[in-house]
Amino acid sequence: MTGTLYLVATPIGNLQDITFRALETLKTVDLIACEDTRHTQKLLNHYAIKNRLISYHEHNEMTRAEELAEYLRQGKSIAIVSDAGTPAICDPSFRIVEKANQIGAKVVSIPGAVAFVNGLIVSGLPTDSVFFGGFLPSKKSERIKRLEEVKEIPATLVFYETPHRIEKSLADALEILGNRKAALARELTKRHEEIIRGDLAEIFSYVSGNQIKGEIVLIFDRKSNESKRLDVNKAGTLKSRLTELESEGSERKAALKKLAKEFGLSRSEVYRRLLIE
Ligand code: SAM
Repeated sequence: MTGTLYLVATPIGNLQDITFRALETLKTVDLIACEDTRHTQKLLNHYAIKNRLISYHEHNEMTRAEELAEYLRQGKSIAIVSDAGTPAICDPSFRIVEKANQIGAKVVSIPGAVAFVNGLIVSGLPTDSVFFGGFLPSKKSERIKRLEEVKEIPATLVFYETPHRIEKSLADALEILGNRKAALARELTKRHEEIIRGDLAEIFSYVSGNQIKGEIVLIFDRKSNESKRLDVNKAGTLKSRLTELESEGSERKAALKKLAKEFGLSRSEVYRRLLIE
């Protein structure tokens, strides 16, 4: 009889966010494979659980998956945990699940916290149809390409982001997705939990004025007629919006100021783009 592979969700911050079933599984399996043994040891200590830990992370995933599959062949049970939340969600475990399936081992999920679901449900944006894109690419050209790929999807868009890239990613999102509604959920379930809601231009200006720290989920509304109108990427958008604002009675200076705010650009960038368009 082959063993069982359990994918066990652990907290994303607050240590109490773990299920009875997860604790029972961590107690009773033959082996726990985790990203960082010291990190998971803290969780086990908190719940007075003693069990054997082995590392399983992105750098040893291939070789370790083979080793873990051998344990499963011998009929042993293994729990996979990541540093936070649900294994396999932007964390390793794909390889071992694939191997376990190949050898006919049972694969069982022990549900619990997932950061993107919690960010989504507190955002106030629609949850009827959702696209989760993992991390936005760190390279600007790839990030722009990814944002272009997702901009028309008729669903709420959710991404993970890091504090050192957040400002650049928001600037790119504003440029590619247009000024649609959005939310930024930071440090969920932790002491400094913060949810910032607004449109992309507002969130961008908040983030550029404050040093944002901690773990972040970004949530963008689907494309609306409003954001189509404000799509800075379409040729002539800035100019036609300027004409529109002036025809509504705005002075040139005030209209340019408004444009900069709407598009989340500096006034000099607005001038520069108007000259190009
Ligand atoms: N497996 C995890 C899950 O189930 O959500 C995700 C792991 S991924 C390597 C780490 C990223 O998840 C962070 O960079 C952040 O974007 C997001 N994240 C994790 N914990 C979070 C939290 N407490 N608040 C906001 N975002 C969080």
